[in-house]
Amino acid sequence: MISFREFLECIPPGVTSAIGDLGCDTKYPGNGSPFASLANPEITLHCDTEKICGGNRLFKTGSSVSLSRKESKLIFVTYICKNCSKVRKTFALRVTLDENLESGSAFKYGEVPQFGPPTPARVISLIGPQRDLFLKGRRAENQGMGIAAFAYYRRVIEDQKSRIFDEIIKVCTRLSAGQSIIDELVRAKEETQFSKAVDAVKLAIPQLLFINGHNPLTLLHSALSEGLHAQTDEECLEIATSIRVVMAELAERMGQALKDEAELSTAVSRLINKKAVAAKSTEVTSKAIGPSAAGE
Ligand SMILES: [Zn+2]
Repeated sequence: MISFREFLECIPPGVTSAIGDLGCDTKYPGNGSPFASLANPEITLHCDTEKICGGNRLFKTGSSVSLSRKESKLIFVTYICKNCSKVRKTFALRVTLDENLESGSAFKYGEVPQFGPPTPARVISLIGPQRDLFLKGRRAENQGMGIAAFAYYRRVIEDQKSRIFDEIIKVCTRLSAGQSIIDELVRAKEETQFSKAVDAVKLAIPQLLFINGHNPLTLLHSALSEGLHAQTDEECLEIATSIRVVMAELAERMGQALKDEAELSTAVSRLINKKAVAAKSTEVTSKAIGPSAAGE
């Protein structure tokens, strides 16, 4: 038995759950049968309004549904972000109240936006044109369809191989990782398969992109080849989840590396400009200090 809040937040569509606190505020009218109101718990969801939320926020609903003993209803419940009042989430549910007017069961037909933790924007931009296929993989993963999730993710990685390599090359260039690794990555990118491309990279990519001490390309490579031989749907699901997590982490690290680098060069050039201005004024006021002392 779970709480209604937990059901709304954590249970994917397509599952019937027993709910402990479905009904509340029970009324016993003198001339009719008793009834309860459907609980309206506040729930925590990801809100992606830029610059306002961009994280987990409380959502509330003003829905009012009443249920009598053993009554079943098909309902839509809409929640809105309490912080920005912009983002909404709508659930399509079947709720059934027990004899005791408190516990019951609930089934989720669906929810919009889709169930599940959000896919980071950096992953979306990394896979670019195949955003929709990736999100289908995400949906399959959320619903426990391991083979499907694996197949979608694999397709996206294979098809976007060049894009992923381009991004790594960009990071290597920015981090001045050395021409030999860049040349190797450029050559590897031309391979037809992701696994062959990864095999072709013998030199180390920047340590900054490593995930818990492992090369992310090797991790993806082994996950993809393992998945092909996985026997059960559950095994495929585990591998699909690993692929998604590694992709998200890789995209995050590359984005961070490029951002840090951009910030660093802005900071450096700002300081250099300041020094140059200071040096000029020092030169004018006192020739004795000289540019070498000012340019330290
Ligand atoms: Zn919000």
